[in-house]
Amino acid sequence: MVNWNRVVQKMAGAAALALAASFPVAAQAPPAEKPGIPGNLASASPARDTSAMAKEAEGWLTDLIKVNTSNPPGNEQIAAMYIAAVLEKEGIKAEILDMAPGRSAVVARLRSSVVAQPSRALLLVAHLDTVPVDKARWSVDPFGGVVKDGYLYGRGAIDDKGMVAANLAVFISLRRSMARLNRDVIFLATDDEETSGDASIRMLIAKHWEKIAAGYAINEGGNVFVKNGKVQYAGVQADEKLAFNIAVVARGASGHASQPTKDNPVVHLAAAIAKIGNYSAPVRFTSIVRRYFEGLAPLEDDEIGKWMRSMDTTDRGEHAQRVISDASPLWNSMMRDTIAPTVLTAGVANNVIPAEARANLNVRLLPGDTIDNVLKDLNKLVNDPVVKLELQPNAGLAAPSSSLESDFYGVISKVVTQEFGGAPALPFQSTWLTDSAQLRLHQVQAYGLVPFPLAQEDLKRMHGDDERIPLGAFDKGVDVLAKIVAEFAVAH
Ligand SMILES: [Zn+2]
Repeated sequence: MVNWNRVVQKMAGAAALALAASFPVAAQAPPAEKPGIPGNLASASPARDTSAMAKEAEGWLTDLIKVNTSNPPGNEQIAAMYIAAVLEKEGIKAEILDMAPGRSAVVARLRSSVVAQPSRALLLVAHLDTVPVDKARWSVDPFGGVVKDGYLYGRGAIDDKGMVAANLAVFISLRRSMARLNRDVIFLATDDEETSGDASIRMLIAKHWEKIAAGYAINEGGNVFVKNGKVQYAGVQADEKLAFNIAVVARGASGHASQPTKDNPVVHLAAAIAKIGNYSAPVRFTSIVRRYFEGLAPLEDDEIGKWMRSMDTTDRGEHAQRVISDASPLWNSMMRDTIAPTVLTAGVANNVIPAEARANLNVRLLPGDTIDNVLKDLNKLVNDPVVKLELQPNAGLAAPSSSLESDFYGVISKVVTQEFGGAPALPFQSTWLTDSAQLRLHQVQAYGLVPFPLAQEDLKRMHGDDERIPLGAFDKGVDVLAKIVAEFAVAH
């Protein structure tokens, strides 16, 4: 049993107490299989008993959804304590790493030998925080753990508490089966991923690298894409784009709105944003994206497949790129730098022309591109002395891509194809950021694969309203992840 009294004592404040009291459930339920019972999964496949395991993991996921870790402010400490309690019940020592007041990561390790070999170790990583919710737009309580029509609803159900729970299930099943490991397996749940702030994995690596050092990692970042009710492919993230913000600032003289002037900053800003909004940066294929489209072309319908194959040709290339860009915002963003205006600020009163108008541009760069070039192109495009482009601080760091030739990538590909009816694994360059960039900067071969087979309809809710996960997809994902980890880390 989880000693909730002890957990609660460690938590500060009445809010934490109320939350803790609301954990009824999975963690207190008797384990499906007692630790140490000879399921003898070690010799064959530790993945054998994953359906019971998946059911238990559904309970952990439900509990984690009930802990509101919207970032900001995050408050991941309570979720970290919950996980530590689940692990300790299994006899696994878990360490809570406090990163900021109320914000913690949690780490645990299953050893393969007395002497650690960090370069061989496998890290199972997922993040505890979520993006915020607009509660009024949800049809259910985003922190209620509601199950409806076979779906578990809640903020973080997919991103990324689903993966936290799946990692936990796989990690615990290795322990219960007493699997003989050929490399250390490390469980890590991070905080502050969504804003990459001062409590994020960057700081965790700076302070505690020795606790998480690994040669390989599996994280979010890629997905198992379902189309027309079937898995079409698994995109295994091996690289990601870089994010920057640029402020667009128009300045002029403030004045009475009854006598408009030509230098009204609102007008200049609006014109600049209109130009930027209509601009497309040039296409460039990174080697991962090239391989992705090559693999995807035969899986798409004839028309799309034909244009996908033509994108690199000299005669029809440009037209083909336009067709494919228009067919999918994801594809468009995989082949070029993108610039999205996101915030507008101007004006103090209805009858005053303001002295300043500002906008924010969120820029996503292809690996290898530089923000200086984007700034140069945008300045040329805007071509207005009243409007200045100012690069904002906290820019990301470029990281190398993970190898498509590593043993671990091979294992992921093999298991995915076996488990999803022959659907291939394709190398994937995510347009979004993940913790993996920081790991890759430390020589970790990190791959992104949220193992749950999901349709577009569910994927698009991830940072939106009514986020949910089909429980069948969750269970399948736990099973697939267990098989990947068993194949790579269990001695055969
Ligand atoms: Zn995420």
